[in-house]
Amino acid sequence: MTSSAREILTRIQAHNVRFVRFIWCDNANVIRAKAVRTTFIESYLHGEGVGIAAAQQALPVMYDALAPGSGLTPAGEAHMRADWSTFAALPYAPGHARVLTDIYDGEQPWAHCPRSFLRRMIARAADHGVHIFAAFENEFSLLRPSESGPQPFDTTVFCQTWALDQATPIINAITDALEAQGLQVEMAYPESGPGQFELPVRYADALRAADNQIIFRETVKGVARQHGALASFVPKIYPDKAGNGAHLHFSLQRNGRSIVVEPDRPHVLTAEMRAFMAGVLHHLPALMALTTPSTNSFKRIRPRFWSGAYTCWGIGNREAALRAPQPAAGQPITNVELKTSDATANPYLSLGAVIAAGVDGLAKGMTLGEPVNGDPADLSEAERAARGIRQLPATSGEAIAALEQDAVLLDALGDALARSYLAVRRAEWEAMKDLPHAEEVQLLLERY
Ligand code: GLU
Ligand code: MG
Repeated sequence: MTSSAREILTRIQAHNVRFVRFIWCDNANVIRAKAVRTTFIESYLHGEGVGIAAAQQALPVMYDALAPGSGLTPAGEAHMRADWSTFAALPYAPGHARVLTDIYDGEQPWAHCPRSFLRRMIARAADHGVHIFAAFENEFSLLRPSESGPQPFDTTVFCQTWALDQATPIINAITDALEAQGLQVEMAYPESGPGQFELPVRYADALRAADNQIIFRETVKGVARQHGALASFVPKIYPDKAGNGAHLHFSLQRNGRSIVVEPDRPHVLTAEMRAFMAGVLHHLPALMALTTPSTNSFKRIRPRFWSGAYTCWGIGNREAALRAPQPAAGQPITNVELKTSDATANPYLSLGAVIAAGVDGLAKGMTLGEPVNGDPADLSEAERAARGIRQLPATSGEAIAALEQDAVLLDALGDALARSYLAVRRAEWEAMKDLPHAEEVQLLLERY
């Protein structure tokens, strides 16, 4: 037995683990697991994978039935192989541990595997000498069950301490649980919407950042449930209130050094960073089918809700799709965030697609426009057109159509994954486009 296998067994015993959950996140961004009884875990320490039906990657969010046109059938099996470096006991589910997985087709990474897709895009960036670091900055809503359905924890405004008082035990327990799993919580504060909170976590290399997003969502939901509450990442629960974003922060390094800003010019983005951002903005209408993929997502992406509804960028501009956070005096710009991103996105697919778009910008030397300082919604139609600022797709249907036309993103996904992913997106759009808001939220509330 290898020493790392022995170490996993020791940790399994130390935490009195009965089951190890093999986790995968599918094209509908549902996080799923098969849990292996620890008495049988040894063979899985040495590469044997846990089987799942290939058809899993054809399931839309509504139900366990195949989306038409996915290229997948009820026949066929793929195998989840544990990445044991991600193993952790689950603080919110005593007796259970989890491990994140790459899905294999025989000896090869499965063409439909989202985590393998992100690995490919990380390698693509590395071919250009660029290493991507990232963090998903999540907002979520805390709800309490009631006779008349789930009610928000509070009705406070932004950062009101009263909201923190309502939720102190849950926020503390979420923080402890995240830190026990290796995430670093940087802050906690009530956001603007009813029962809405935000806990930014520290950035990491791209694969770890996507893993962290799975761990974050699982932990927030699991801990809230332990406290008799429901946590939800659904982007727009209350139609006229602030939505839940999962802003995607990213930065670039070359040879272990940040290349976000020019040396000695802490507020001037490098040519590479600008080209990468230009690539993201260029592909954004299609990218949205991956970064804000739910029918509900598009209710959040509205002008004047700080959610990034226009293809522009700005320093400290919360209405721009790409925002370079404005640093404190004397500090450099360290990263850029994509606001057009939420937690209904499979993080491996969304981050991988953002990298593909950015690398396309780098490879083609795309030009980033001038930063926008005010609210792009205040510019006239003509001014926006003159500055190349487009309003983003208003529905999932429009974003799907844009992705179907985006050769770069389709090529990055590869034929098989592009086909299964688009089939799932289309099935969801057809099933949910006319669903009344309350029914849509009810359907999604526990999924995300
Ligand atoms: N809740 C806003 C959104 O939907 C973001 C607010 C903020 O800037 O943090 O993305
Ligand atoms: Mg926020």
